[in-house]
Amino acid sequence: MKILLNSTKLKKELKKIEGLGHVPTMGSIHKGHEFLILRSLKECKKTIVSIFVNPTQFNNKDDFKSYPNNIKKDLNILRKLKVDFVFIPKINDIYKFKRKRKIKLKKKDIILCAKFRKGHFEGVLDVMDRLVNMINPKKIYMGQKDYQQYYLVKKFLEKKYSTQTIKCKTIRNNQSVALSSRNIKLTTDSLFKTSMLIKDLKKLKKTLSQSININRYLKKKSEELMQNYGIKIEYLEFRNLKDLKKSDTKKNSKIFIAFYIDEVRLIDNL
Ligand code: AMP
Repeated sequence: MKILLNSTKLKKELKKIEGLGHVPTMGSIHKGHEFLILRSLKECKKTIVSIFVNPTQFNNKDDFKSYPNNIKKDLNILRKLKVDFVFIPKINDIYKFKRKRKIKLKKKDIILCAKFRKGHFEGVLDVMDRLVNMINPKKIYMGQKDYQQYYLVKKFLEKKYSTQTIKCKTIRNNQSVALSSRNIKLTTDSLFKTSMLIKDLKKLKKTLSQSININRYLKKKSEELMQNYGIKIEYLEFRNLKDLKKSDTKKNSKIFIAFYIDEVRLIDNL
């Protein structure tokens, strides 16, 4: 496994590489990331994992500063998986050039996390643009857990590059909680509550019927869940996977949730 610490090394190493699969991460590698990596290893000639905690996508400075960092552990996992390259750039290396035109989301895309985390996806799209420009992968593997991120990145990249963005299923622990680097910030009690909440939402999804206004119903449910679990729900909405518009039919639609527990913000979709 080659560890590339800057863009000059990266360019040199990747010069003759074709059919590259890229898994972008912010580190603290867990089984969710591993699933993406294993898919890339299976489907691509070579695989590169990038580890970069991107400051521009954090709308909260403290959240950026306290983001988990486990580089030694990460490298051990990646070595065991037999990843070909790991790219660990510095902030100055990624943001060497100023962009000519600022990235702006369309009004219709300012929903879900984009509504609550101002500037977050602009930061994600900016860094993905820079990474794809440097790495030029054939395929990028992203998790369905961050569905809105996958949706916006795919739309953005398809306009500019020939890179394919591949969606991978959400990996959960045996208590239904989606794996996330942020889970280590949770107490045992909060992890348990999260698990109960997700199980409740799974059951709730089964009971949804076309005869009611699903989103109005979820708004009411959201109040109930906040009371029962002592959490703060930012959004609980039913949306279509194709265009992320609010949905009133179960076909191709999911429940999207963002909530705070122990002051940790978690998201999921079911
Ligand atoms: P992150 O390091 O949190 O930025 O995540 C890097 C990639 O891993 C993103 O495409 C995420 O959607 C994906 N990912 C994070 N958690 C999971 C999970 N539990 N299952 C599958 N993919 C995940």
